[in-house]
Amino acid sequence: MTTVGVLALQGDVREHLAALDRLGVKGTSVRRREELDACDALVLPGGESTAMWRLARTFDLLDPLRDRVGTGMPTLGTCAGMVLLADRLLDGADGQETIGGLDMTVRRNAFGRQTESFETDLEVTGLDGTVHGVFIRAPWVEEVGPGVEVLASVAGHPVGVRQDQLMATSFHPEVNADDRLHRLFLDTCC
Ligand code: GLN
Repeated sequence: MTTVGVLALQGDVREHLAALDRLGVKGTSVRRREELDACDALVLPGGESTAMWRLARTFDLLDPLRDRVGTGMPTLGTCAGMVLLADRLLDGADGQETIGGLDMTVRRNAFGRQTESFETDLEVTGLDGTVHGVFIRAPWVEEVGPGVEVLASVAGHPVGVRQDQLMATSFHPEVNADDRLHRLFLDTCC
């Protein structure tokens, strides 16, 4: 059985674990390298990418994460998790680094500040009907490389992307108990 780790340094870890549980998938928190080693796939949650980057460095997890994601571990990143998966980052905090893996440039906080957070229904390639997207100080994808498929956009900006076994969204599919995005990730990336 596939074990899906959720990076549990900061952010909405519990919501992702609940989504995995509803889908009958084994989810587990990842804070240490040995916990990462025990996973077949990974979720990088929403939260604060700067804090996650700093904590990952402190916990000696940054390089192991780069290694696993860079050598084919299926990974879903939502919001701050999208920032972490970006090969190139705009408007990061001073010196902010990413894990990388997805050939895209992401602009952090691109949709504005906390007060400019919004919700909207979106079409997502591979899913029927619309998905209710919750955007909280969300990033957008500024530019993608040739191997990246855009799955969803808002106002012309990609907010859902997939490249091989990596998927990222600017919004939070974990917060409204609609598990179709997690299912799509598991079906097409794992
Ligand atoms: N703005 C946050 C960041 O850069 C992401 C916000 C979120 O995950 N809701 O990490």
